[in-house]
Amino acid sequence: MQQIFPTDVTPEEFFNSGVDFPFPRPQVCLNPDCRTPVPPKKHGFYERNAIDFKSVYRISIRRYYCPYCGRTFSYLPSFCLPYFQYTLEIIFLGLLAHFFELGILLLAFLQARSIGWQRQHLQFYGRRFLNNLKPIQLGIRQFMPEQELTNLENKQKGAQKILGIVLSGFPGIKSFSQRFFAQCNHSFMSPC
Ligand SMILES: [Zn+2]
Repeated sequence: MQQIFPTDVTPEEFFNSGVDFPFPRPQVCLNPDCRTPVPPKKHGFYERNAIDFKSVYRISIRRYYCPYCGRTFSYLPSFCLPYFQYTLEIIFLGLLAHFFELGILLLAFLQARSIGWQRQHLQFYGRRFLNNLKPIQLGIRQFMPEQELTNLENKQKGAQKILGIVLSGFPGIKSFSQRFFAQCNHSFMSPC
């Protein structure tokens, strides 16, 4: 099981801390069917990529293990999205560029930074976001009940509307992503 924890450290700082990073530690088992009130044990690390505007970082993520149910847990820093190598910031920029028709500009910007994104990258992220519009809308409604969400029949306009809410209603994309994950138990970009 993965969790996302809020952090302001950059991928570079996180990488530099390595296994010494002060990872959050669960006090109870996070498996909803277990919930044994004993802190799960430290259980080594796994590595994953985090690609941002500056570099490709191979970062270490601490694992925990519950001896009562046998499940393992890990905490991802909020600049990551589960199962995506690019950092959340880049992916969010990709979504903005895709839905506000600035894709060509963004691709040129990324290519100048040696990030070889093609049009297909934007299309992939865009499709995933469109497929997830409904669950994202439901998630937003849970933590922003006062937010007005009109029907999203025009998907392109719906995507623009949701991105606008994320931009104006949260301190940053990391904050939205982490809160959404905590609320819904999956990321806003995970396949439905
Ligand atoms: Zn357990």
